[in-house]
Amino acid sequence: MRVVLLGPPGAGKGSLAGLLKEKYHLAHISTGDMLREEIKKGTALGVEIKNLIASGALVSDELVTKLVEQRITSGQDLQNGYMLDGYPRTVKQAQDLDMILAKAQAPLDFALNMDADPDLILRRLTGRRVCRKCGAIFHMINHPPKKSAVCDICSGELYQRTDDNEETIKARMKVYVESTQPIIDYYGRQNRLKKLDGNLETVDLADELAAMLK
Ligand code: ADP
Repeated sequence: MRVVLLGPPGAGKGSLAGLLKEKYHLAHISTGDMLREEIKKGTALGVEIKNLIASGALVSDELVTKLVEQRITSGQDLQNGYMLDGYPRTVKQAQDLDMILAKAQAPLDFALNMDADPDLILRRLTGRRVCRKCGAIFHMINHPPKKSAVCDICSGELYQRTDDNEETIKARMKVYVESTQPIIDYYGRQNRLKKLDGNLETVDLADELAAMLK
């Protein structure tokens, strides 16, 4: 199964992908995570990416598409398929992805859109904490770790993403509406769109998706 997860920041794409990875053995390909890995390398490119992410702006289509193409054409862990989380984020990226997948004769099965209310998004993102080691996602109120700032799964350190502050979240939402939302119509016109309610909790989202796939 090859799936694109669509929806605003905080709709629950990453959390759902974490669950589906276990359930369906799908690889979780997050461009945000790939870019944050690039930042860790401390290269000039990493610094450029860091500044863009900190302001809530998008990284260039060319760079992100190159990273995704490398990942989906050379990954050893993609036998059961994958979920793309955070890509595509512009119509250009969606078109390029279609071209890459047509060449590989491995088209997408569907795009799954999750929308959520702006107030809920803000609460989810400002309370979000992420494990530095395994990437697991927690929330200070909704899903707190057993021990403060320590990951329940791997004991890694939990941190708050620098772009999860109110000002940057608002900038990311604006970019989402302007650049990413048009992709929903793009997949809709191709009859490849499925929808879930991103206001639901992750476990309920996974149940709804399982029912949809039956
Ligand atoms: P979220 O879904 O919570 O907004 P991500 O981890 O997917 O967070 O992305 C964080 C940031 O990384 C984005 O705000 C953007 O700057 C950059 N980014 C991630 N994916 C893409 C992409 N496909 N195209 C351009 N920029 C991207």
